[in-house]
Amino acid sequence: MSHPETWHETLHDHFGQYFTVDKVLYRETTGQQDLVIFENAALGRVMALDGVVQTTERDEFIYHEMMAHVPLIAHGAAKKVLIIGGGDGGMLREVSRHPGVEQITMVEIDAGVVTFCKQYLPRHNAGAFDDPRFTLVIADGVDFVCQSSDKFDVIISDCTDPIGPGESLFTSDFYQGCARCLNESGIFVAQNGVCFLQQDEAVNSHRKLGHYFSDVSFYQAAVPTYYGGIMTFAWASQNPALRQLDAGTLTARIDQIGLTCRYYNAAIHNGSFALPQYLLNALSASR
Ligand code: SAM
Repeated sequence: MSHPETWHETLHDHFGQYFTVDKVLYRETTGQQDLVIFENAALGRVMALDGVVQTTERDEFIYHEMMAHVPLIAHGAAKKVLIIGGGDGGMLREVSRHPGVEQITMVEIDAGVVTFCKQYLPRHNAGAFDDPRFTLVIADGVDFVCQSSDKFDVIISDCTDPIGPGESLFTSDFYQGCARCLNESGIFVAQNGVCFLQQDEAVNSHRKLGHYFSDVSFYQAAVPTYYGGIMTFAWASQNPALRQLDAGTLTARIDQIGLTCRYYNAAIHNGSFALPQYLLNALSASR
């Protein structure tokens, strides 16, 4: 029996995950990143950038629901949303499910990601790129938040890992820029890696965010193809109450917009802020 081609993730040394490749749909070095999109029998279409899995058709809903609905339901009245990165369109799809949102701006560094994901991962955006509230800006996210005169209610950093172009989205300049671009009860969230394997990234983000936000923490979800356990999402605002809403309030807001999800619900929302003790210990030790 011929052995199918396999694609090996290169995020971690000494161990990792692989995928059998049934068909390579697209591969290109976009000038910014090495992009590949391929078919896998278990996970559907898989997109990777610079050797790191970004998203798969089968489990993307967990990540996109948690990064969009936790801040938007917690805020309760967001009108202007900024997505940094997110070129595959999955985050845009979930944000656009909030009827109260009036403007969605995406700042993506690599136009190629948008172009190729529109073509090869259509279920990710599900038409959201055509939403009249949507504006695409091709730029480095750190430049945008440091220079924009616009203000937002929620900023979602749907970025790659802190390697290559993604590195600038884990810097103090970026976090200071996000604090500057948020309205008073604004919320910032960011993908911050799998804490069991990338704990330093969470500790560094926590320390840097603490210089610009009075309330900094994480929430979490396990996304199967973000290998190695729970993924932590950075959370930052100027009001601790924004992450301490009771289940009744969350449920009322969810029901009011008729939001039905495959992963997210009010109990998951509140439970996701519970963090493993080893991470809490590392965060308090770094203060
Ligand atoms: N869900 C994925 C994850 O958690 O790893 C991230 C998905 S999305 C594909 C990541 C996006 O961030 C990519 O489209 C990449 O081009 C974009 N990106 C990387 N660095 C960036 C930067 N400095 N400014 C704006 N976008 C950036």
